[in-house]
Amino acid sequence: MFNLTFDNQFTAALPGDPESGPRQRQISHALFARVMPKPAAQPQMVHYSQEVAESLGLSTAQCRSDEFVQAFSGTRILSGMDPHATCYGGHQFGNWAGQLGDGRAINLGEVNTPDGHLMLQLKGAGPTPFSRGADGLAVLRSSLREYLCSEAMHHLGIPTTRALSLIVTGEDVMRDILYDGHPAPEPGAVVCRVSSSFVRFGHFQMLAARQEKDLLQRFTDFVIRREFPHIASDSSLGKDQYLTFFDEVCQRTAELMVHWMRVGFVHGVMNTDNLSILGETIDYGPYGWLDDFDPEWTPNTTDASNRRYRYSQQPAIAQWNLMQLANALLPLMEDPSPLEAALTEFAESYQRHWQTMMAAKLGLEHYNELLNNRLLALLSDCEIDMTLFYRGLSKVTIKDNDAFTHLASAYYDPADIRGQAKEDMSHWVRDYLDEATRQQQDDQARQQLMNKTNPKYVLRNYLAQLAIDDAEGGDYKKVDTLLEVLRRPYEEQPENDEYAQKRPEWARNRAGCSMLSCSS
Ligand code: AMP
Ligand code: MG
Repeated sequence: MFNLTFDNQFTAALPGDPESGPRQRQISHALFARVMPKPAAQPQMVHYSQEVAESLGLSTAQCRSDEFVQAFSGTRILSGMDPHATCYGGHQFGNWAGQLGDGRAINLGEVNTPDGHLMLQLKGAGPTPFSRGADGLAVLRSSLREYLCSEAMHHLGIPTTRALSLIVTGEDVMRDILYDGHPAPEPGAVVCRVSSSFVRFGHFQMLAARQEKDLLQRFTDFVIRREFPHIASDSSLGKDQYLTFFDEVCQRTAELMVHWMRVGFVHGVMNTDNLSILGETIDYGPYGWLDDFDPEWTPNTTDASNRRYRYSQQPAIAQWNLMQLANALLPLMEDPSPLEAALTEFAESYQRHWQTMMAAKLGLEHYNELLNNRLLALLSDCEIDMTLFYRGLSKVTIKDNDAFTHLASAYYDPADIRGQAKEDMSHWVRDYLDEATRQQQDDQARQQLMNKTNPKYVLRNYLAQLAIDDAEGGDYKKVDTLLEVLRRPYEEQPENDEYAQKRPEWARNRAGCSMLSCSS
């Protein structure tokens, strides 16, 4: 039926646990355990991604078939699939948590495509040995958030895992959304995620923690050869290649952080098991998008007191996580100093890229620290929508005598468009336009650079929630519309202006719109 060619190198090249099935256990000397997905009672398609399907060579007719819904809900196993859950550990909120693993993710297998291999992974298809007493299931609410956001990220040009399909299972799942002792049934769902690899920092950490140095080396060699083949150009791998590998992971992670900061994305749970070795955005949980620019903001209620994973701290946390990865690789290196040097270079590289990006957000070729810092202070002093502000600013021209025609719609509090706050911002805008003139950046060049750096459309938290509200009632139209709009986030699309409005007042404190728990 499906013309998918499976080539399961992960399970072929690496050792698995001798026991199959979901019995909860600690494993050793193995990277994965084979386990079958749980068949869905009444699987029904919510949405599939035409683009991802095409990259796998699947036709529209195949995607609309019953077989598709069965295969990608975990109800029917296709020939060539080798379902398994992988074992990783991780630091959660800064503390070593031991074995975690794919508690509700099941890899179906790797498919060869003209552009390389892709691992297909079901999320929410039932328990695995790593479920730690939980059910291995996922609800429609969180699955839809993952599905929408990973596609939105991709179209923003930000590295991410992707999603092939979102299917409801026809069975309810009990969840206590606010963790306040009120569990309620919610529709269950399965997302089929796609990436060339779902290996996380935590995979390396787990092997290091188990002190399985030989397997750590074998696994690192495998990941380098399979995912970083340019590093493994000759046959033998050693310390030099491990260092080059670590350097590249640092580089990719730095670039990812710059992207997140650029668009105002807050991941919410940057534990080391949620960082991809490929530098992709992975594991969309209680993430959020900055509405008003508040560097201290995190959407994750579980992290509300420490705000470890707040917007402004993401680059520093990435570096902390990379340090844990460096610790895990240390047994292969002996001498820590080159790894330490790579971590220092991470910070420097991040800073360089961030400055270039912040200049581009202003449509400037050269970063002006004072100018940029003054703006960030003004943006956080008042309640100003980050996305709308930068798009509005691109419309302000050197000849304009009232910049606020273009900026006012970004303000949440009308009081800030009067008096001192307005004075301060107007003063800044004048200095900014002077700087643009000094840099010989005319209005048109500035606007062009800004509009490919600053998206007009992002997956605002309340937009996702509105799509969820409808989807829970069986109406998937908003899912489709949102995905269409978010495919072209940098284009004006005047007909879709309603998706580029600041957060409405009702959404300010509504669960799902500004506050999210890990319940999923
Ligand atoms: P997260 O913080 O969502 O990345 O999850 C941390 C760990 O908990 C991972 O090992 C997940 O696989 C596991 N986990 C989360 N939710 C569930 C669930 N409903 N059933 C089983 N395992 C889960
Ligand atoms: Mg995770």
